[in-house]
Amino acid sequence: MSAEMNKRYHNLGFDPEQLRAKYQAERDKRVRSEGNDQYRDVTDQFAHFLNDPYVKPGYAREPLTDQVDVVIVGGGFGGMLAGARLRQAGVENIRIIEAGGDFGGTWYWNRYPGAQCDIESYCYLPLLEELGYMPKEKYSYAPEIYEHSQRIGQAFDLYENTCFQTKVECITWEEDAATWLITTDRDDVMRARFVVMACGPLNRPKLPAVEGIEDFEGHSFHTSRWDYDYTGGDHEGNLHKLSDKRIGVIGTGATAIQSVPYVGEHAKALYVFQRTPSSVDLRGNSPTDSQWAQSLTPGWQRARRENFNDMVLGKPVEQDLVNDGWTEIFRDLMSVVPKENPDDMSPEQISELAEMADFRKMNSIRDRVDQVVEDKEAAEALKPWYRQFCKRPTFNDEYLPTFNRENVMLVDTSESKGIERITKNGIVANGVEYELDCIIFATGFEVGTSYTRRAGFEVIGQGGETLTDHFADGLKTLHGFSSHGFPNCFQMGGLSQNGGSVNLTSVLDDHAQHIGYIIKEVLSRGASYVHPTQEAETAWVDTIRSLAINSQAYFEACTPGYYNNEGYVAPGVGIMGQGYAPGANAFNNLMAQWRNSGDLAGMQIK
Ligand code: NDP
Repeated sequence: MSAEMNKRYHNLGFDPEQLRAKYQAERDKRVRSEGNDQYRDVTDQFAHFLNDPYVKPGYAREPLTDQVDVVIVGGGFGGMLAGARLRQAGVENIRIIEAGGDFGGTWYWNRYPGAQCDIESYCYLPLLEELGYMPKEKYSYAPEIYEHSQRIGQAFDLYENTCFQTKVECITWEEDAATWLITTDRDDVMRARFVVMACGPLNRPKLPAVEGIEDFEGHSFHTSRWDYDYTGGDHEGNLHKLSDKRIGVIGTGATAIQSVPYVGEHAKALYVFQRTPSSVDLRGNSPTDSQWAQSLTPGWQRARRENFNDMVLGKPVEQDLVNDGWTEIFRDLMSVVPKENPDDMSPEQISELAEMADFRKMNSIRDRVDQVVEDKEAAEALKPWYRQFCKRPTFNDEYLPTFNRENVMLVDTSESKGIERITKNGIVANGVEYELDCIIFATGFEVGTSYTRRAGFEVIGQGGETLTDHFADGLKTLHGFSSHGFPNCFQMGGLSQNGGSVNLTSVLDDHAQHIGYIIKEVLSRGASYVHPTQEAETAWVDTIRSLAINSQAYFEACTPGYYNNEGYVAPGVGIMGQGYAPGANAFNNLMAQWRNSGDLAGMQIK
């Protein structure tokens, strides 16, 4: 550390070099040579892990062979917002295709006990002002968010033409007719002039490719298909059927942090198999203050979202409107930048100061573990040794105390890079076999795999080129929305070459409005299609990569996870380095300028 820094931080109370070395050692312990291949496909004998537990079996309908203006694939917030914004833009002839039995996407599938959004509800739930709805609490639980999805579906007449319980199998461009041919698992052969793919960034559950996983003779399920028939109870808990069951939960990411307290409360015995601990900060939920709600003036939600986006990017703001655990992280980081002459600091100095603030914050997260968890060995294992944004930060008041219960045991598997194997009786970790009645896989979702694999269907564009081939060396898009040779085809996602934010729904709404604008332009100009020129696409990929370079060193030093492509950081691979680094607000400004210029710059119009 420089002498100047030393002076500023004379009272650090920790040794940065020691912490850096500890972080490195903990990372090295966990990096696996297989990278993303350490996970297995949820197909064949594991396909039942994807079954929809929330619909009655036996649904059937006649195949469709008609044509609409726009097909939207996905009925989560992305697809619904695309539908809502298209309706507002006057595009009426639309159809959503959705695998689940209702709208909601993430919130349709993830109904595990305790499921809650970590992002403040006033920022997260879309279209609050348009629909006149105010969330009940600062952090909404899953049922309220799921209900809000249905509210959007009804308010914008999205139910009218939606195909639920339907999976797209392939989308093929027909040059002569300038239409997309969409085939599905319900034998539909429909056509559309435009396709909007809103398949969600984390939609495909993954399982560890661990030896013996097929041998287990007990019960098992993935958290995104919670089996309440087996556990009893509902999202509020009361999992009474577990009272005589020995349960193993694999994984300690954001999902496990929320669900483990409920399983721990009801299971006869719970073993939590942890490889990397999450950072668990305070939750502090509270009911919505009605006086505050009444004091809000039109435009408040956008202002709040923009304020949040700036805060979580470390940009100076006059006031922190959200004032929660996320923004606190950045307030803390920014507090290290001197008020007088901040511009005199070099990027290196700022990044060093940010690192110091990060150490301080993570020390407080680790101290909290010591304060809450009584067993010293468990407490030690529950401490995260990495910088805060190496993994998704979590916020929960019940998770850590769960390890003080006599029926709950933490099994630290970090030395063996995860569980060793699964047997017919249970899980083997650190050479010990834990006999179990049920294994709950809280092992997350595919991120580093190809776009089309996660979408679940192939897209065949002009000249028979597949989107898989087009993206073989990384994403290639203009503004993250569309690709050369794939006319009238748009992607939404928020993690792909455009403005991202941890508040994904605000990004999806911005993207929906932008895509709505382009589709409306094509229709009103009487054109048959648009797609980016090769040059514009290449230039945009270069822009994304050149701006992303700054984060590479940060993620290379991180413990492995989906934020850093399981420890193998490379430009254009995984989710990091894929977004527009200046952030969602800057991206929106750029897109507003692009729209205002009115010439669909970089797009070829036919
Ligand atoms: P994650 O990918 O975050 O976590 C998967 C967990 O499984 C990790 O702890 C991982 O360990 C562990 N794991 C994988 N393989 C093994 C193995 N072989 N042995 C032992 N452990 C293993 O999935 P989640 O479902 O928890 O969360 C996914 C994302 O969903 C979050 O990051 C967040 O973006 C979102 N989410 C958002 C919420 C919200 O409030 N808005 C709530 C819940 C989820 P390791 O870390 O070592 O890889």
